[in-house]
Amino acid sequence: MTTTTRDTVNGLDSSDPLAHYRDRFLLPPGTLYFDGNSLGPLPKETVQRMQDVIASEWGAGLIASWLEADWINAPLRVGNKIAGLIGAGEGEVIVADSTSINLFKTLDAALKLNPGRTTILSEAGNFPTDLYMAEGLASLVRDRANLAVVDPDEVLTALDENVAVLMLTQVHYKTGFIHDMKAITEQAHAAGALVIWDLSHSAGSIPLDLNGCDVDFAVGCGYKFLNGGPGAPAFLFAAQKHLPQCRPVLSGWFGHKDQFAFADSYTPTGDIRQFLCGTTPILGISALETGVDIFCEVDMASVRNKAIELGKLFIRLLKESHFEQYGFKLVSPEDSRHRGGHISIAHENGYAIMQAIKDRGLVGDFRSPDVLRFGITPLYQRFADVYDAAGVIREVMETAAWDREEYKQRSLVT
Ligand SMILES: *Cc1c(COP(=O)(O)O)cnc(C)c1O
Repeated sequence: MTTTTRDTVNGLDSSDPLAHYRDRFLLPPGTLYFDGNSLGPLPKETVQRMQDVIASEWGAGLIASWLEADWINAPLRVGNKIAGLIGAGEGEVIVADSTSINLFKTLDAALKLNPGRTTILSEAGNFPTDLYMAEGLASLVRDRANLAVVDPDEVLTALDENVAVLMLTQVHYKTGFIHDMKAITEQAHAAGALVIWDLSHSAGSIPLDLNGCDVDFAVGCGYKFLNGGPGAPAFLFAAQKHLPQCRPVLSGWFGHKDQFAFADSYTPTGDIRQFLCGTTPILGISALETGVDIFCEVDMASVRNKAIELGKLFIRLLKESHFEQYGFKLVSPEDSRHRGGHISIAHENGYAIMQAIKDRGLVGDFRSPDVLRFGITPLYQRFADVYDAAGVIREVMETAAWDREEYKQRSLVT
């Protein structure tokens, strides 16, 4: 195998059309950040924007800012911007709550749209909160819903006449495997089920075409690839054709047809705003908007192309350093077409290895029981960063630097 050199990767960086976006982010010096799939870094504009929101809109404008700073339309405005990134139309995406809560809202909406059927179908190994929220909803509505969790390769055959809704995460949080959204949605529909796609590891990472795939509902995260900040509000997509029939379970006043009439009973707006519940966290949505605005400048196809090249380079460098001889296994699909925005490798001492790696300035994360995850985020990652990251992993393995008691103590967040 020919060895990749630093000159080769520097050449890739100097011809990279996205290279200048790196300067839009505050990245701590000396850190190789490979965890933007878990918490995106801080865009420089967000610092200025937050100062304005706090000092000027909140501090000086006070309550008048609901209109003067257009806070009232922020969930729909930012939702429409996200719609552009995921192949949704105007008025089909709203920013609200957390991904977990949005799953609850869409699961209930889908069940109501498919009366007579009661099964929520999902796959084993799906992101925990997706399954937990479905469990919680099923325990609440009892005979109206039950959760069926089957092995990933049995999902399609489990689509029987009782499945009301199929809930899947498009890009798997652990392996990075990408589900075929179009084919699966088609098969679910053919079996009479609706679909909910969790886009937490898709939005801002891969090009999406929700309407082209005829998706019913989707949810996703604001703080991962979209760089909206810790705990940023999430988003919810509902296909236009479903909106007039939806009656939201979390029927809060922000989803009321005439919010300021203060009526005693609830009438939904009939549009995407009915999926709002209570007051939007304006500080959070303002930070999210600046993160999303950067994506509105770029073409998702070029983001994806660079992500594929970064990922291929990472895997090539791991192979060149004979990572399998050190006991690693590639967990992510090797075929780039099936791999989303992170590279996962497994090792029985994965936890300690990740701690040693972090100590050397390379930030990835660990997912139980043995997965080391490295996020691929083309807007601020350089080919040289991938080169250096592979160098850190090699050094930690060659010197067995990970084999220390302090690296084996589990912390609260991994
Ligand atoms: C990160 C993530 C979530 C997060 O849910 P929150 O309610 O925002 O904490 C949900 N689903 C998937 C697939 C995720 O990766």
